[in-house]
Amino acid sequence: RLADIGVLGLGTMGANLALNMAEKGFVVAGSNRTAEKAYALRDDNGAVGQNIVPTDSIEQFVATLKTPRLIVFMVPAGPIVDEEMQRIMPLLSPGDIMIDAGNADFNDTVRRSKAIADTPFHFVGMGVSGGELGARHGPSIMVGGEEQVYSLLSKILEPISAKYQGTPCVAWLGPDGAGHFVKTIHNGIEYADMQMIAEIYGILRDGLGLSAGEMSDIFADWNSRGLSSYLIEITAVNLAEKDPDSGKPLVDVIADEAGQKGTGRWSAIEAQKLGVGATTIEAAVSARGISSRRKERAATAALYGSVAGVRGDFHPDKDGLKELEQALETAKIIAYAQGFAVLSAASEERGWNLPLGEIARIWRAGCIIRSQFLDDITRAYEASGPAANLLHAPQFVERVKAGETALRRVVAKAALAGIPMPALAAALSYFDDYRRARGTTNLTQAQRDLFGAHTFHRLDQEGVFHHQWPAV
Ligand code: NDP
Repeated sequence: RLADIGVLGLGTMGANLALNMAEKGFVVAGSNRTAEKAYALRDDNGAVGQNIVPTDSIEQFVATLKTPRLIVFMVPAGPIVDEEMQRIMPLLSPGDIMIDAGNADFNDTVRRSKAIADTPFHFVGMGVSGGELGARHGPSIMVGGEEQVYSLLSKILEPISAKYQGTPCVAWLGPDGAGHFVKTIHNGIEYADMQMIAEIYGILRDGLGLSAGEMSDIFADWNSRGLSSYLIEITAVNLAEKDPDSGKPLVDVIADEAGQKGTGRWSAIEAQKLGVGATTIEAAVSARGISSRRKERAATAALYGSVAGVRGDFHPDKDGLKELEQALETAKIIAYAQGFAVLSAASEERGWNLPLGEIARIWRAGCIIRSQFLDDITRAYEASGPAANLLHAPQFVERVKAGETALRRVVAKAALAGIPMPALAAALSYFDDYRRARGTTNLTQAQRDLFGAHTFHRLDQEGVFHHQWPAV
């Protein structure tokens, strides 16, 4: 039996993606370093498993596939992808398509696409979001590569992808690294979103002294309105869960040390390279870094004293909670505006022509940042075209104006109380900086001109100027 598609690497993501395809009626060849996993995938999954064709060798895997072959690589990102591609290429036929579906650095995808252009094969860099459950039941899929190749893939990708009101959350986004770049920025936005939720949790816990159960109810309530999203929904679940050993809320026994695999950092680095202020993403990456230095933080607390106990001018009444909800909603708009500004700048610099509204559309379901709010972003782009910044879109102007005071008050009160707000404060500062027609870098330019003759522009005359500053 010839397979419609092959999955190489049947770990968490590969196995679930293969089962998803099999369930949709595609025959899927499976290849894994440890071949037993491919057989277990067929044998342990009932009727769905019957569409999996396990293989023992790379030769058998290739021979099992219909041509042109569609081969999905689901192995750890980095050199292993190159090694596996090198191993399989001598066995392929002209027109075969290799698809890297891992979390690749988009720079690697650009490099691989260039290298493959000299061969008779095709290469696709495909971002898959939604974790294990998404892979199994419907991920959001961001495809980069040759557009004509996408038409061969879409017949499989559309049925397996998440659906938002019936529309598949998959699209071809642009050439070479476009898909992986968009996935990277998706993850950067995810970092910012999660960090801002954690900061509001910090106020609920340390500013209001609420229990995990009480906080769970608040997040569940927020999930019924403007903030409605997967991340807010799981926050309510996280906070409600009890530790089976101690009976305490599980979040209260989890160490405050966040892990990271790199995509948030890559987003911040790319934003910096493009000269775009993605300050909420940078704040989130830094906050995870600081969190992982738990011993160092304890030593610093011993030196300076930790700000302890319930504190700050926060109130657990209706108005107080409304203020927190509005602050989070407003900061979230600013964070997403930053993420989309990075996409827009990269698109311009690389000539990718990224469809920003389409990107928001395929993030509406399946991925970790899925939410109703992304539908608003899609509509903003549909209404106003690829605006330079979402903060210029009329719908968001109204919302930010309505929530600005809440964000300002929450950040100010938290600062006075010593409750850290790296991402929320970054959102507010970015907003204040971005909407200020006259900034302060005129002084920076004066300094640069004094010490390095770096020149400056004037507001009242065209041209480039250098001033003979007094000797210092
Ligand atoms: P796993 O660790 O679960 O699986 C890795 C797979 O790669 C296994 O099949 C493993 O084989 C194989 N593998 C590992 N090392 C080698 C090697 N040296 N040579 C050949 N095969 C190897 O990883 P995931 O499924 O979680 O991740 C796969 C990709 O998907 C990564 O790029 C990851 O970043 C990305 N991703 C992961 C998500 C997640 O939520 N987990 C979400 C989105 C993307 P064996 O079984 O023999 O060990």
